[in-house]
Amino acid sequence: MAVDLAAPDASRYEQSNADVLLWQTRYRVVLALVATVLAVALRTVGWVDVSPVAEARLGAQWSDWIIALSAVGYVSIVLSLHRRVVRLRRASRELATFMMVCDLLLVFVLVFVLSPPVDYDRALLVALFALQLTHVYFGRGPALLMLGATATGYLAIVDIAIRDGAAITWPQSFATLIIFAIGAGLVTFVQSHMHERLSRLLEMFARAEDGDFSSAYDVSADVRPDAITHVGRAYNRMRTHLADIVETDPLSGCLNRRGFEQQFRRELARAARTQTELAIIDIDLDHFKNINDTYGHLAGDRVITEAGEVLRANARVGDIVARTGGEEFSILAPGSGLAGAQHLALRIVEAFRRREFGGALRISVTASVGVVADTVTDEAIAEDLLARADEALYAAKRSGRNRVVVWSEGLAALRAGQLEKQAAASVTTDTPVSSTEPPRRSIGAGTTRG
Ligand code: GH3
Ligand code: MG
Ligand code: MG
Repeated sequence: MAVDLAAPDASRYEQSNADVLLWQTRYRVVLALVATVLAVALRTVGWVDVSPVAEARLGAQWSDWIIALSAVGYVSIVLSLHRRVVRLRRASRELATFMMVCDLLLVFVLVFVLSPPVDYDRALLVALFALQLTHVYFGRGPALLMLGATATGYLAIVDIAIRDGAAITWPQSFATLIIFAIGAGLVTFVQSHMHERLSRLLEMFARAEDGDFSSAYDVSADVRPDAITHVGRAYNRMRTHLADIVETDPLSGCLNRRGFEQQFRRELARAARTQTELAIIDIDLDHFKNINDTYGHLAGDRVITEAGEVLRANARVGDIVARTGGEEFSILAPGSGLAGAQHLALRIVEAFRRREFGGALRISVTASVGVVADTVTDEAIAEDLLARADEALYAAKRSGRNRVVVWSEGLAALRAGQLEKQAAASVTTDTPVSSTEPPRRSIGAGTTRG
């Protein structure tokens, strides 16, 4: 559907307009021809007479010609606009409105020539239908313009008729016009309301395309449930299922990276709004490669599943636990300060130390943890927070693993210094960078306890 639904995307709106105008061409041409042939046929059999006003102005013999010429002119305009739209593959709001005004003109010519002035409201009836179509396909702006054009057209033919002494009066005509305006206003209002709701739904679908299922359709706002409400409900049902599939990591049962990013953005915005603290706890399983090498990949997978369980069991309600990499996890703790986050991190490291993984394999697994917490004054802090958490984790690895490191100003300098040292080592001795790590501790090397 065209309309304002995609208001932010003008070119999409113009492409939709083009699609609508193209499919409407066939109907315009057929309707114009049918109306013309019918008018001339009914005149010929004497069921319809030329209006006395038209006869006085144009002469009876010219009336058929006027109808035929109007129809030919209209069809020519329709076809030439069609060609233009095919060429451009888009149609501006102005072009769409111009087409609808041409429709109206044809209607008013036919009514003026063939209807006695007391029946001029036939034009308003047809215009009401055109107005509805305009609103559905092109939006409120063009519909309101059509409303103005219809009123102008109606007043113009009424004016001509009254000047020619027709048996209609301005008060009567105004009354008819007011009734039309009320009806048309109601149609426009109802249609606008539907558009707004459709537009909201469309926005949600667009976000869902990017994997963002954060907002649900507000069914309770629909006082009188209708077809759109049903689509909204269906979206909400689908949203819950899809959000699970798209944002959850099946192996660990935690959120995946996409889910983490969604939540991180949301929590960051919330924390910035309320100027509260946000903590990130980065966890990396130690020497995980050794576990794979020693016990095989399936056992490694099982350890990841169990590590997810450990993290979720230790996190607090409201914390967000995600698997952000192969054997890397992150916990987002909204409202947590440094002390709280550190406490949680220590609990996690302790939980890993105490537990054995892989069922009968009884694998010992340790984790290194980096912690950062800060008051969020601005959402722009995001990258910085993530980088600091990563730095702290890196420091935990470098300083022997199986431990918690809380980020502090000094860490960045420490890391920079170490990187320089590594670079020097690799240049002078040709030693791989990883060999500069301290010797591995037995506790983290995937050994079996007991
Ligand atoms: P470090 O203590 O420095 O973190 O050492 P590490 O061995 O844990 O880290 P490294 O990055 O060298 O290796 C991570 C390993 O995790 C390598 C990769 O094969 C393994 N891994 C990543 N994803 C999965 C997974 O889904 N299943 C299994 N079984 N292994 C995985
Ligand atoms: Mg690791
Ligand atoms: Mg890793």
